Amino acid sequence: MIYLDAAATTPVKREVIEAMFPWLTSNFGNPSSHHELGQIAAAGLADARSSVALTLGAHSEEIIFTSGGTEADNAAVKGIAQARRRREPSRNRVLVGATEHAAVLESAKYLEEYCGFTVDVVPVDSQGRTDIGRYSELLAEDVALVSIMYANNEVGTVSDISTLAKMAHDVGAAMHSDCVQAPGWLPLNVETLGVDALSLSGHKIGAPKACGALYLRAGTDFVSLVHGGGQENGKRSGTESVALAVAFATALAVACGQQETVSQSVSELRDRFAELVTRNLPWVIATGHPSSRLANVASFCFPKLSGESLLLELENQGIFSSSGSACAAGSDQASHVLVAMGIPEVVGQTALRFSFSADISAEQLDATAKSLVAGVERVLALGGAKQA
Ligand code: PLP
Repeated sequence: MIYLDAAATTPVKREVIEAMFPWLTSNFGNPSSHHELGQIAAAGLADARSSVALTLGAHSEEIIFTSGGTEADNAAVKGIAQARRRREPSRNRVLVGATEHAAVLESAKYLEEYCGFTVDVVPVDSQGRTDIGRYSELLAEDVALVSIMYANNEVGTVSDISTLAKMAHDVGAAMHSDCVQAPGWLPLNVETLGVDALSLSGHKIGAPKACGALYLRAGTDFVSLVHGGGQENGKRSGTESVALAVAFATALAVACGQQETVSQSVSELRDRFAELVTRNLPWVIATGHPSSRLANVASFCFPKLSGESLLLELENQGIFSSSGSACAAGSDQASHVLVAMGIPEVVGQTALRFSFSADISAEQLDATAKSLVAGVERVLALGGAKQA
């Protein structure tokens, strides 16, 4: 099997399982309990929190453990915008990038439909980068929050978050960035990025599903979405999973610790793979930014071919990739990301995304490129071309 869907999810790393194991078994206490077992759990949770903070260049009290990227995005978008407007009632607008994950887009939609906010979508160019001219026009003193992702999960385009954050701050708006796809591939320091909040997810980096974190800069307006016993410093109630917090902290430290070397070597493999594909199939369209992109994502459109047929062809050869984001998989509509980049609907329907793990090899990618070329020929021979 060649697994090329790491942007959808990854297997749990052995060192992560080993780090979390004691917190599922002998050290099973509730961190809120006053007895010794509880105190051991509270100390484990505090260590995990300070490890995440250290990795991000943040302070421990700025880290909120969540059930993953979706919850962190919801908490940031809804929690910051509402609290910011409460303090300054004229701040009634939210700006979101056109290619955001549904967790951000749907949270913004909720603010519009249920909370009376106006939401403006910031367009992107044909390579998926923020249209800076339009962004600057949309920014004004009535904006409560801007949410723009660091790296796109479908086409891999990387945004210049520090510039976008500075522009948001110039009009007094808070800046959130969905950084779910970044760890292990991009530098991830909250001071360099200049954001007030960022979202992370464990299962993209070798931790189990349903863990992650929200970084929330000290002093940022925020109202919790989850009320109860006041855990996570009152910002996210519910008994904490020490095991998942430890797993997430371990995976994040490993991913970020090897980021520079791994992203360099994997980006070389990605370029070689993309070159092989486009040399053999010159009519294929490589999507996303050519250089400002995630080291581990190569994405293409195969005009006039059925993306789903191609996906099945590859799967029959033991190669697992994706027709876009896992959330949109199975739908035969072009993704909102490709549409926002100006790619015609019929072309967008033919998209395939290949996303690699850190241990990907040149041999695996060469075999994939070969299977892809053969798969295209078979789909064409079987009459799998779309009526474009
Ligand atoms: N944001 C981005 C960019 C993602 O790629 C994903 C997952 O696909 C999420 C948010 C949601 O994260 P989770 O699956 O942890 O809820």
